[in-house]
This record gives sequence, structure tokens and C-alpha cells, in this order.
Amino acid sequence: MSEKNSMHPDLMASANRQANASKPVSTVIKPGATIGILGGGQLGRMLTLAATPLGYRCVTLDPTPDSPCGQIARQVTAAYDDVGAARELAESCDVVTYEFENVDAGVAALLEQESYVPQGSKLLYTTQHRLREKRAIEAAGVPVAPYREVTSADSMQQAVEELGLPCVLKTVMGGYDGKGQRVIRHLEEVQTAYEELNTAGVGLVLESFVPFQCEISVVAARSTKGEVRTFPPAENIHVNNILHASIVPARVSEELQARAEQLAAQLIEGLDAVGLLAVEMFVTKDGEIYVNELAPRPHNSGHYTMDACATSQFEQHIRAICGLPLADPRLLTPVVMVNILGEHMEEVLELLTAPASQPATGEVIPKLHLYGKSESKNGRKMGHVNLLCQDTEAAMQWIEQTNIWRNR
Ligand code: AMP
Repeated sequence: MSEKNSMHPDLMASANRQANASKPVSTVIKPGATIGILGGGQLGRMLTLAATPLGYRCVTLDPTPDSPCGQIARQVTAAYDDVGAARELAESCDVVTYEFENVDAGVAALLEQESYVPQGSKLLYTTQHRLREKRAIEAAGVPVAPYREVTSADSMQQAVEELGLPCVLKTVMGGYDGKGQRVIRHLEEVQTAYEELNTAGVGLVLESFVPFQCEISVVAARSTKGEVRTFPPAENIHVNNILHASIVPARVSEELQARAEQLAAQLIEGLDAVGLLAVEMFVTKDGEIYVNELAPRPHNSGHYTMDACATSQFEQHIRAICGLPLADPRLLTPVVMVNILGEHMEEVLELLTAPASQPATGEVIPKLHLYGKSESKNGRKMGHVNLLCQDTEAAMQWIEQTNIWRNR
């Protein structure tokens, strides 16, 4: 993420005013209209897969020809910061959304002026920067782990003294999947961690290390009409900092699940967001919840909704931005979503296309979703499987028995 991606709030406010002036919030984008999607990866593809049965057409902007989304939607092939291409997209769309948060500021400003972007760019501006994000979460009355802004070697020392060890140093921009962060357990590590991450030159934040019992996430949706619905929390298991599996229902009390959904609803209202907001949270063994990160888009931990809920996160997003009534997000069956990375591809395909070799748990129904990526690289998300089950333990055993996901 570079600074050029962060748009000044005044510019955004004026862009939002213009967008809102041309399309009041009472606007309903009716089926038959065309939805523009910035980004043609798997999230764009699954948005298109959900928009199509509702009668919408989709067009995507992506630099890679024949992108996952471009295989099923019309594609404008150009760089994400190509303003001319963005204009071409805007001209052919009735509404524009995005599938990633690092939308180029120039493109966002143009789209807001020349098309209808109900999500605006204020939330993008907030979630592109960890400090802005934490302040916004607190302002909505939702807890985050204690943190300090770090601006110099001295302020780093002081922050460590105030927060204590262990703690986590993070770059405020540009980090994902565990990149751009260091866990500090001993005083001797403080200086090195600071020097290493400070080279990024984007600013730093130090957080208390939360001794969490588990990580959960809630995907919330808010429509242009202000209607809010939340999906049941997923319990997320990460391997090498990449999401490996989401277990639903999360293995926490029902009361805690309800509180997590309530906090996500409070956040999406407080941030005045439209569309989806994925809220990642830490749960401690005392039942405290701290919000770690937000994503203003469909989220990997919400992929389980495609087969296990009455409505998927993708359909809900389309409904939210088009001003349709939000649909019922209820969970219809327990489920475990497991990601297929490049290194799992070959064996997963063999397993799921040769029924006789499937593990004989009997009670697990695997639903395969592949993203149409031609190049399979280690760590690259190629697809996922939703394991519908009677209880999530059986699905976890299914994953064990396949042996595909072990030690890779
Ligand atoms: P993030 O990039 O902020 O999503 O962090 C990636 C992962 O690092 C999280 O999913 C956690 O497993 C871990 N992590 C990040 N921040 C903290 C923290 N303050 N305390 C404990 N673990 C953390």
C-alpha cells in the first residue's frame, strides 16, 4: 500500500457529496443493471456469481487478462490506477464496487464523480491505515487491544514500557497475512524490530499481545437504506499467517457469538458503512473480545456462507449496494471452510474428482469452489472447499483423513 492510495478526507467528502447528489440513497439499482467491480480476483468472481442469478450484469477492471472474474464477466484489462480505463468502466456501469481495499485514490475520486459508488471511499481511507482504523473502531465504542503510535526509537522504548511484553509491532500500512509485523517477547528484540520495520517508512504502531483463546470474525452488511444484518461468527485457524480453515458455529458460547455479532453491527453503523464489513476479533479465555482488523469487502472467512447460509456474503453485498432488502443470513448447517492453496491443488482435485478415494466419514458433504487461476503457486489461494456436516468435529476429521493439508 503506498501513500498515493490514501485519499485526503476533504477530497473524499466532496467526491461523496457529488456522488450522493447525483444518486440519492433512495436509489435502487434494479436487476438488469450493470455492476462494475474494481479488481478481477476471486472475490470479484464470487460477487459476479451471486449477482448473475439476481439478473445483474458485471464488468471488472483488472490488469491480468482472463482474470478469475473476467472469465465470467466482461473485463476491462488495465492497471488498477489507469484513470482512462476506470472511466471506461464507469461509463458502462450503473453502480461501482471494489473487491480489494487498496483502491487507487485517483481512480476512486474519478469514479465517485462520474459514477455511483454507494460505498464511498471514506471507509477505504480508514481501513488502509492501522492507526486510523483503530481510532475509528474506538470511536464506535468497540474495544481494540491497547496500542501506541511509534514515531521514533525513543517513542518505541516508551511504548514498550507502557504496554509491556510481549507486544506486536506493525507497519500502519501495507502489511497483510502477517507481513510487516514482529512479535516482541524480549527487551533485546525491541531495537531490531523497530529498525527492520521502520525501513518501510510508512509509520508504526505497537500493540499489546493478546493471549487469545481463538480468533473469530463476523461479516456484517449494511444497505444504502441503512438496514443491517450480520452473519454468524466464524472461528478462524491460520497456518503460516494464511487463513487455513473457518469453523462455524465458532466453538465459543452462544452468548459470546451474539456479542460478536452485536459488536460488528455497532461498528458498521458507527462507521456509516455501506456494503460488507468483515470484522476480525480476538477472544480471550475470560470472554473478552478485541477487534484486530477490518476489511470493507467480502472476506475469506465468510466463504462458508456460500453453501451453509440462506444467503451468501456475496449476494448480501450486491443487495446492500443496490439498495435491495437484505436477505436472511441464517446458518442452515454446521460447516468448515478449508482453503486450497497452490500446494494443495493437485491432491484436492484428485480427491474430489475421484469419489471412491474420498474419506469415508459419510456425514460430510464437500462443496468445491475453484477460482480459475491458471498459475498454481505455493501460498496462493486457488479455491476452497465448504464441508457441510452435522457437527464440525466430523469435518475437521475429514480434513485430517485426507492428509492433504498437513505440514504444507
Ligand atoms: P494482522 O495482520 O493484524 O491480521 O495479524 C495477523 C495475525 O497475527 C493475527 O491473525 C493474529 O494471529 C496475530 N496477531 C496480530 N496482532 C496480534 C496481537 N495484538 N496479539 C496477538 N496476536 C496478534
